[in-house]
Amino acid sequence: MQDSQKEIAKLRAEIAEHDRLYYREAQPKVDDQAYDRLKEQLAQLEAANPEFDFGESPTQSVGDDRLEAFESYRHRMPMLSLDNTYSSEELIEFGKRLEKRFPGQTLKYLVEPKIDGVAVSLTYENGKFIRAVSRGNGTEGDDITQNVKHIDGLPETISDAPEILEVRGEIYMRHGEFERINAARESAGESLYANPRNLAAGTIKLLDPSVARARKLNIVLYGVGACEPDNFFTHQAGIQERLKEWHFPVLEKYWLADGIQTAWESIEELDALRRKFTYPTDGAVVKLDDFTLQREAGFTAKAPRWAIAYKFEAERAETLLKEISLQI
Ligand code: NAD
Repeated sequence: MQDSQKEIAKLRAEIAEHDRLYYREAQPKVDDQAYDRLKEQLAQLEAANPEFDFGESPTQSVGDDRLEAFESYRHRMPMLSLDNTYSSEELIEFGKRLEKRFPGQTLKYLVEPKIDGVAVSLTYENGKFIRAVSRGNGTEGDDITQNVKHIDGLPETISDAPEILEVRGEIYMRHGEFERINAARESAGESLYANPRNLAAGTIKLLDPSVARARKLNIVLYGVGACEPDNFFTHQAGIQERLKEWHFPVLEKYWLADGIQTAWESIEELDALRRKFTYPTDGAVVKLDDFTLQREAGFTAKAPRWAIAYKFEAERAETLLKEISLQI
């Protein structure tokens, strides 16, 4: 085996183990930036060595949170990941690629806070809440209805709804609740949880719903998956408005931006505001607003080509600080 082939195999195995710890166990052992660096390294090696088939690579698929104890449910529309970047130049590049794809148009983007929680899909049939499913492997997820249906603010019914609707969002835990649970564990001499995202991920997969209910989870909804009829929504901004009218917990703020440069200015504004939000944010998600253009832009195997996640520098600095304080 050539060196690069060995390195690709080693990185794939290492990333698969981090994926298992993060998605299935909710107990990662490296921080997100370190993980993202490994993935970037693998993507570069794969691009330089296209002769090594990488159909099975973690660069081409979303992680998998499915556990044997849960019933699996197939999403009507896949739940994919997002390409991400820590660089404003790469964000502008993303916009330029779309401008080339759609010449002569000022593209409108919706800039949304990126919530640091666990992805969920809620199915409503004829306006009635039916089930909640985790992202799973993107195609099929775990039925977590028992642990989700008690979360505050989730409407059991919605009026004037499409026949079938998958509402997509994020389950998260507020810092206060996280600290309350950890303080109780500390008094009981038990080990502490690492962060709210992992505790939220572990809690929605608890088999005893009464234990899950004793920990306060929250939910925020920002998108849709399958929708029948499929012309019910035409713009991402229209989804935000409709979710609010249906009384879902929604994003406190989002920006409709003309062109990618304005989208970047909105991200800077979000960075200044986000600490006042009730949910933890780790970045911004920039999405083409128009569904016709979204459909034309299409998807890669793991992410839409019409959206990108920008991750904030501050999160990285905070992570580094935490690492340093753990070492001293
Ligand atoms: P991601 O978290 O970077 O982005 C995709 C997810 O963002 C979506 O699935 C959705 O749940 C969420 N999201 C939040 N707000 C959103 C909004 N407004 N619009 C759309 N989506 C929104 O991608 P991922 O595939 O869930 O996870 C990959 C990331 O997870 C990695 O880049 C890394 O940061 C982290 N990870 C870390 C480890 C580790 O060991 N530390 C392991 C695996 C993954």
